[in-house]
Amino acid sequence: MSYTLCKKVRDLEPYEPITGSYRIRLDANESFFSMPAEVRDEIKNIIDNLAFNRYPDPVATKAIKAFAEYYGVDPDNVTATNGSDEVLYLLASAMLQRGSNVVTVSPDFSMYDFYSFLSENQVFTYKKNEHLEIVIDDLISFVKEKKADMVIFSNPCNPTGRGIFADDARKLVRECSDCLVVLDEAYMDFWDQSILTEAAGYDNLIVLKTASKAVGSAALRLGFAVCNKTITNALRAVKSPYNVNTLSQEIGACIYSHKDMLIKNRDAIIKNTKALYEEILKLKQNYRLPFDIYEPCANFVFVKTDIAKDIFEYLLADGIAVRYFGSASALRITTGSEEENAELMKSLEKYVIEKYLAGNR
Ligand SMILES: *Cc1c(COP(=O)(O)O)cnc(C)c1O
Repeated sequence: MSYTLCKKVRDLEPYEPITGSYRIRLDANESFFSMPAEVRDEIKNIIDNLAFNRYPDPVATKAIKAFAEYYGVDPDNVTATNGSDEVLYLLASAMLQRGSNVVTVSPDFSMYDFYSFLSENQVFTYKKNEHLEIVIDDLISFVKEKKADMVIFSNPCNPTGRGIFADDARKLVRECSDCLVVLDEAYMDFWDQSILTEAAGYDNLIVLKTASKAVGSAALRLGFAVCNKTITNALRAVKSPYNVNTLSQEIGACIYSHKDMLIKNRDAIIKNTKALYEEILKLKQNYRLPFDIYEPCANFVFVKTDIAKDIFEYLLADGIAVRYFGSASALRITTGSEEENAELMKSLEKYVIEKYLAGNR
């Protein structure tokens, strides 16, 4: 008998983001700000003094302290992870018994389903309405009906850019009191409906944050889970001991301590997203394009359209990468700098004139 991979993993393919080099990257919801020279100088100093021979601090004390100060939470309620991705895997695997019932919503971030699949949970998917909204009472009924052990979704949502209000989130947590509610607030920096600072007051809530989006540090792989001390203790116990490397801890602590920079960057991203949305809306109206778009609560614009694939390929050939969702026939366009957004709009309009209108003539 020879070795064969188990059925679960046999047909899986490695995660493949857009590779290759494009002049403009608007495909991964990253920040368009990189680190300014003054922060880079501090980082150089960190590297000069790094104890390379020593294992990292297992609790990431310094990074957690700076994160907690920036968001106004108690560091004792925070667990640091190797990106949010790590905690998503832990939630699906270590924090649940195999075969547990997990409720996800659709459309949403695909990793929740993926880690639940790997962990052999039973996944039930709540479908959002035609406006891509969660109707909170329907979701609450769904969670109860499925006897869910965990419900997890992003708020605001990746990829739709829409969100639920804080009061609806609170209602879900209160009414589904025997179910672990995981709110992924990766994009909440760009909206004002966070319940992050209340997370520790609930028995059954975890709020997730990441350094990868508003904080502009996707390279670090740094995520945070905020919840009461009982759940925090369990998360810290199940994670691998040295999950966040020392460089990421130290650099993360440095970056979160630059509050003014973070707030300034965040506000600029919000401003550019709004402007990008207005521009795309104008394009839609000017040329009567078959676009479904909604005012975004995050740092990207979601465009549902039958011509998504065509546009995606045209932009890519023009050196502009956006995210294409084949199954939803939609595009997710991350906001860039003003110059990048102007280039995008130029290319989009060229597509409309050269391809779309020409084809419809
Ligand atoms: C980008 C993103 C994250 C962040 O993941 P990291 O592993 O921290 O980079 C988490 N949740 C959602 C919904 C995201 O879109």
